[in-house]
Amino acid sequence: MSAMPSKDHAAGHEAYDVVVVGAGFAGMYMLHRLRGQGLKVRVYEQGGDVGGTWYWNRYPGARCDVESMQYSYSFSDELQQEWTWSERYAPQPEILKYANHVADRFNLRGDIQLDTRVDRAAFDEAASTWQVTTSDGNTVTAKFVVLATGCLSNARMPHIRGLSDFRGKVYHTGHWPHERIDFTGQRVGVIGTGSSAIQSVPVIAEQARHLTVFQRTANFSIPARNAELTAEEREAFRSNYPEIRRFAREEARNGIYAEMPDRGALDDGDNARRAKYEQRWDRGGLTFMLAYNNLLLDKAANDSAASFVKEKIAEIVRDPETAKRLQPDDHPIGSKRICVDTDYYATFNRPNVTLVDIKSDPIEAITPNAVRAGAKDYEIDALVLATGFDAMTGSVAKIDIVGRAGRTLNQKWAEGPKTYLGLMSEGFPNLFIITGPGSPSVLSNMIVSIEQHVDWITEAIAFMRERDLGAMEATKEAEDRWVAHVNDVAQMTLYPQANSWYMGANIPGKPRIFMPYIGGVGVYRRICNEVAAKGYEGFVMSAAERVERMAAS
Ligand code: NAP
Repeated sequence: MSAMPSKDHAAGHEAYDVVVVGAGFAGMYMLHRLRGQGLKVRVYEQGGDVGGTWYWNRYPGARCDVESMQYSYSFSDELQQEWTWSERYAPQPEILKYANHVADRFNLRGDIQLDTRVDRAAFDEAASTWQVTTSDGNTVTAKFVVLATGCLSNARMPHIRGLSDFRGKVYHTGHWPHERIDFTGQRVGVIGTGSSAIQSVPVIAEQARHLTVFQRTANFSIPARNAELTAEEREAFRSNYPEIRRFAREEARNGIYAEMPDRGALDDGDNARRAKYEQRWDRGGLTFMLAYNNLLLDKAANDSAASFVKEKIAEIVRDPETAKRLQPDDHPIGSKRICVDTDYYATFNRPNVTLVDIKSDPIEAITPNAVRAGAKDYEIDALVLATGFDAMTGSVAKIDIVGRAGRTLNQKWAEGPKTYLGLMSEGFPNLFIITGPGSPSVLSNMIVSIEQHVDWITEAIAFMRERDLGAMEATKEAEDRWVAHVNDVAQMTLYPQANSWYMGANIPGKPRIFMPYIGGVGVYRRICNEVAAKGYEGFVMSAAERVERMAAS
């Protein structure tokens, strides 16, 4: 493959080797790696700055639920040695500052066009290039397109009668304003009790005159035990980073360096099991689910962990009715993304906080000054929608992606996303997806999975350039086998038992398919590496020469 000219003279469009959609952690690292190969790259970002999900999710209390010493890039040792995280779980402003630091340190900004949405990407079969149309009305061409659009970046507004009539301010946690919002003296309503609500509720409760939380489904949450990091704690990571990062990539299922369980929950007696749960509860964080190795495989084992957390809720929350409502009863613990909180359950002991069960008394309407549920009006001045995202596929679906023979990706994915390795979809040559459905993605430390995908894509493009190949595409057979495998592995676990966003169950009409690959990041990485080592088995690569002949005919 020869270096691309800067103009596609036939059409008069600017021509790039690669267009990357999104300048979050995935898009920025993708740009860095591709530029390292001497490629001409353009990144389009619809936000006003870099940072992706951390640019949009500015709600009070927003912070990472993976420890920051691990939720950070590993590709540059200088970066990981010199950056100083202040807390165990960094707050959103600090993560955004880190994203900006990376953009500056690696001089990325020049190739990132902000405030620009990609509206359309259409594959030109004759020229074997993508035509990419952006919200500024421009069209460019690119040999490759990489979707770095993020999994939780498409905030979902619920359809609730009367919402547009509400006279107060309405905020969505996933699309929070840039200016500081102060709820002091206000009556605030929060709809939703997922991770975003669980983080924001304790902070809003401290400001608001009164906070009413509207809960449809109770969620399991584990205390974060957030604290300032000491110099010694930072140093423990920095001096052991090679091993910590290796373990997270190759051995951990979820991309997190942690003590791994060696036994099942029912292998221990009641006292030993309780002691182990206590120890994990005291340590805090997502790794509670690593107390035993079968918590997401065996319902009885899972029940033992769920009962432990429910007992904790009953111990923390003074009013027995409220405690009961906060105890989840409709899904195995961990089968929905487990939440990590600071004082969430204790917040319901405050006199200015009310929990309303909207499962038994659904919201009937929003009136100009209240949420009406169970024939009662809960008067509020401001409404916070913590109602989540059209996850994993939502941001991709917003782009009109047209592949071979005019078939769109939305048509192809109408019954659920189909990919080979989560990286490519048959019929859409040279279109890569970072942390897409069919890969470990949201079940893992996202930065570990992002770096793996970016490295794999970089190497695939290098492989093609070295051999003068023009197009790479997943075969239907390989894709069908992978989709079946992703599904088979999911069915071996308790995950499909929950109505979760992993299943698309939070979006009315969305096909119910378990989207991420649950085999674990280590196993998945080995599969991807083997595929590459076998000359990209399951993909077809066509010669550039043939493409050129086709273009000429
Ligand atoms: P979510 O987990 O999808 O929760 C949405 C909440 O809104 C649920 O309680 C849902 O109830 C409720 N809801 C949705 N539509 C509703 C409606 N029409 N009426 C009433 N209630 C409604 O969304 P999220 O809290 O934004 O979290 C999404 C994911 O983002 C998390 O699972 C996590 O992976 C990630 N996240 C991470 C962090 C972090 O790193 N710390 C923080 C925030 C988010 P049902 O359950 O009944 O549908």
